[in-house]
Amino acid sequence: MPGRLEIICGPMFAGKSTELIRRLREGQNAGMTAVAFKPTSDTRSGESSIRTHPGDVLDAEPLPDSSGLLAALPTGVAPDQLVIGLDEAHFFGSPLIAPVRTLIARGARLIVAGVERDHRGLPFEPFPTLLCEADEVTKLTSICAVCGGAAIHSQRMFTSDAPIVVGGAESYQARCRACFQPG
Ligand SMILES: [Zn+2]
Repeated sequence: MPGRLEIICGPMFAGKSTELIRRLREGQNAGMTAVAFKPTSDTRSGESSIRTHPGDVLDAEPLPDSSGLLAALPTGVAPDQLVIGLDEAHFFGSPLIAPVRTLIARGARLIVAGVERDHRGLPFEPFPTLLCEADEVTKLTSICAVCGGAAIHSQRMFTSDAPIVVGGAESYQARCRACFQPG
């Protein structure tokens, strides 16, 4: 059986982690082995859990980078019995693409969640590539912090040229097209 790639993307505060956890639990309830990983660079969460913004928690193993993903999978479980969740996947960058392809080829179901556009509104790897290869794409919106409309952007509330800066509500706002001010 071939594997499957599902993407959950959208701006910050759109409920991506909540939807990821819901699908992992659903897989567990269907008798699959569900595992979750997140990058260690996401310091918002505890050492071994995905913390979603409303406060739901699921055990997730922190990975310093995507090269450790294959070795971190449970041994003795056939790949087609695995549901693998990857949260905050934009922090892994394009090196995540190769192990994701390997796991799909082995028959695993992968659910990759993260922000598909950076603070300038530009495509954010690994998402452009993974979105093209996905079996199913869920693009969530948030609520614009300025006008209350449907937000598709993550507005950075501080000045930095770094493409990746970890932050929560104090550092980012969800914004609609009209209210988004890149840079
Ligand atoms: Zn707005």
